[in-house]
Amino acid sequence: MTVRVVLATRNAHKVVELRRILDDAGLDIELVGTDEFPDLPDVAETGSTFAANALLKAREVCAFTGLPAIADDSGLAVDALNGMPGIFSARWSGAHGNDRANLELLLGQLSDVAERRRGAAFHCAAAIALPDGDERVVEGTLEGVVIDAPRGTNGFGYDPIFVPVGGELTLAEIASDEKDAMSHRGRALRSLVPVMQDLLDGL
Ligand code: IMP
Repeated sequence: MTVRVVLATRNAHKVVELRRILDDAGLDIELVGTDEFPDLPDVAETGSTFAANALLKAREVCAFTGLPAIADDSGLAVDALNGMPGIFSARWSGAHGNDRANLELLLGQLSDVAERRRGAAFHCAAAIALPDGDERVVEGTLEGVVIDAPRGTNGFGYDPIFVPVGGELTLAEIASDEKDAMSHRGRALRSLVPVMQDLLDGL
């Protein structure tokens, strides 16, 4: 039996990415976006960790729709800033989702930080919540360094200033499928597949 699962995000890029990962895994799931539920209230991200925020969103969307729900929360943790912007990555400069302002502010904050101390990691927590109250959360990370000036035009957010460990190109200079294969979100979503399979088998 095909199970309908809601992906609790308004970000079309994430829906496409998860659909591709689920297809590759052969899961018998019909993934629906939140656009099918126009009255869905915005969920305040009040948790203090990526995992807490992902669970919060999955739980609320599951409760509202009555369907199993998947949600994720992600961000960039910079060593020299004690893990910030972290869960505040999307609104680091104040306005939610102003990628350019967020990136410029971060570069300014790191302007005195030597190259060897510019370590950082992208983190993503992916959660699933079921109507019976069962829930799970998994995480994925991508380690690298923050460079001192943006390079590349692909991707979004902090991609133009992040070079993964062992690489030379920023995430904004590589193709999106190459990024998905190594990214924190790709890793978290792929780890979620067996967990989902397990939970949904029990329905
Ligand atoms: P959210 O998970 O949609 O709340 O996104 C959090 C924020 O973290 C985004 O607005 C970006 O600023 C940043 N972020 C998360 N993942 C990535 C990524 O893959 N590349 C660049 N920035 C990211």
